[in-house]
Amino acid sequence: MFRKILIANRGEIACRIIRTARRMGIATVAVYSDADADAMHVAMADEAVRIGIAAPRDSYLRIDAILDAARKTGAQAVHPGYGFLAENAGFADACADAGLVFIGPPASAIRAMGGKSEAKALMAKAGVPLVPGYHGAAQDLLTLQTAANAIGYPVLIKASAGGGGKGMRVVADAAGFAQALAGAQREAASSFGDDRVLVEKYLTRPRHIEIQVFADSLGNCVHLFERDCSIQRRHQKIIEEAPAPGMTLELRAAMGQAAVAAALAVGYVGAGTVEFIVEDGHFHFMEMNTRLQVEHPVTEMITGLDLVEWQLRVAAGEKLPLGQADLAINGHAIEIRLCAEDPARDFLPSVGLLRHLALPDGIRVDAGVRTGDRISPDYDPMIAKLIVHGANRAEALGKMAAALRGAEVVGVATNLGLLRAIIAHDDFAAGDFDTGFIARHPDLIAVSAIPPDAAIAASALTVLASRAAQNIAPTDPESPWGISSNWRMNLPGTQKIMLQLGDLRLAVEAWADGTLIWDGTTHHATLANSRVTIDGSSVPVTMVGLTVVLAGTVFAFTEIDPLLPPEAASAGGGRVTAPIPGRVTNIAVSVGDQVVRGQLLAVMEAMKMEISLTAARDGVVASLHATVGEMVAEGTEIVKLADPPQP
Ligand code: ADP
Repeated sequence: MFRKILIANRGEIACRIIRTARRMGIATVAVYSDADADAMHVAMADEAVRIGIAAPRDSYLRIDAILDAARKTGAQAVHPGYGFLAENAGFADACADAGLVFIGPPASAIRAMGGKSEAKALMAKAGVPLVPGYHGAAQDLLTLQTAANAIGYPVLIKASAGGGGKGMRVVADAAGFAQALAGAQREAASSFGDDRVLVEKYLTRPRHIEIQVFADSLGNCVHLFERDCSIQRRHQKIIEEAPAPGMTLELRAAMGQAAVAAALAVGYVGAGTVEFIVEDGHFHFMEMNTRLQVEHPVTEMITGLDLVEWQLRVAAGEKLPLGQADLAINGHAIEIRLCAEDPARDFLPSVGLLRHLALPDGIRVDAGVRTGDRISPDYDPMIAKLIVHGANRAEALGKMAAALRGAEVVGVATNLGLLRAIIAHDDFAAGDFDTGFIARHPDLIAVSAIPPDAAIAASALTVLASRAAQNIAPTDPESPWGISSNWRMNLPGTQKIMLQLGDLRLAVEAWADGTLIWDGTTHHATLANSRVTIDGSSVPVTMVGLTVVLAGTVFAFTEIDPLLPPEAASAGGGRVTAPIPGRVTNIAVSVGDQVVRGQLLAVMEAMKMEISLTAARDGVVASLHATVGEMVAEGTEIVKLADPPQP
């Protein structure tokens, strides 16, 4: 076994690999960018080496710097994690050339499965079922359109080099094909530097079910059952479970066999995942991921195995610890991905400081960040994975619901509300779902959260307390000028507090004894020992500044000057700013244009996503502050709107 390994990754996966290595007595070397100098994976590793500045291509994708770090520290093997260089055959080769063991499959297997089109051609030969489609070399419009017509609509155009749901287009009919193709090719070229596409039948209510495979260098190969990853947004997974609800023994055996055949066909070694799409009891190969998957913990929970340990053993030349007959499923496991993103804004990633992060106890939590860390625009916005195990699916669902109640995040937007809503949904509980579940249930994404009275009270009481604390202690206890209560001559001892939450403004009248009046109703409240009590009922609360967290829901109140005019009368909504750092790719208006609320003003590309900036209200374009192609920082004003001319 290795004495020391280098982990060419960051975040939760780097931390997770370090945990297993430590348990096995293997020393670990972390690598980090400037943005990660204080990151959790750096703190956890035995040694850490700086490899560059924040941008991945200047750090986590720098093969030379990573190999250099391995040489300097005497690491014998490199674990690539997932993402970054994990599926880069050139990196696997470079490790071998440098005399390091790449903890992953042979470069030839990565190459064979690297392109979706080539992989499909190979799988067809190995007898693995495919979605009917075209994955040939010819890429002219006529060939592709003819293929699409023959497959029958709807069809799906996919980037051959694709990943992460990029470069995909659903086409409903022949008339829409050419335009969708151009869009997919453009996105594929800009994301992957390769505009080749494939066309396949678009299944309308499929499940995404994948098989974990494992092979050793002695020719043994097993599968570790399936994971259902059908709960997706933007064709990307957010909830995964094992086993798949409704799975039959026959289908599992057939899919397991096909996955092992796929692995053997490319001379696979190590951990891999064969992804299938399943509809009406039929399964079709989609692609093989030649690395550990984000969702591998659910397989670990139902098998009781440590897949990273298996990876290390296989990479060290050992035989697979177990054969197919020794493997069995125990109970049910569910994983959720807690991400810094805003479901109400089309899952726009949310960057910023994690002012408060509380993750549940008593379950498996794979996290790579802590309170005080930043979610950076340079990296994936995943905060943590929560994984539960139960004797059966109902028990696992109950544990996940409880776990999600115990998760609190302040500082960035998250998908916590959406995750809670899915876990609580009757159809999800009944196993009645497919990859379109989130898109078909827009009600899962609550747009506006009306604050409960307890939240308003907690925030108002915090303002009161901080005002009292700011009053200077009286030097002369008899002097009326030093009194820190809100006593005023000839006036009731009241203070005005103006709170804002999103578009909502609340004027609260407050007395030092905890009497609060808003919206014409009088309440009595106290805030102590992490509980807020209002009108006789008490709930636990977490306060982060004026931000209130109640049952995991975040109410980010701010205090505003009561003398400010209301938003609509001022220039409110007139400044259109970049929500996250990125590049301006299109300015859709000119100075002097009249625009209406909701109209597209500009488009940005950030965190590998297109972001549309629209008018928050009717107006006239007063000025433009960015040009196409310009990189802009978060909060940069792009367009200024003035009031529309009065009729
Ligand atoms: P990527 O590599 O970009 O993640 P995949 O090929 O793995 O792309 O597909 C991602 C997701 O897109 C799948 O999990 C599934 O939800 C959906 N998808 C892919 N192929 C099809 C298809 N033929 N019909 C319907 N949905 C599909």
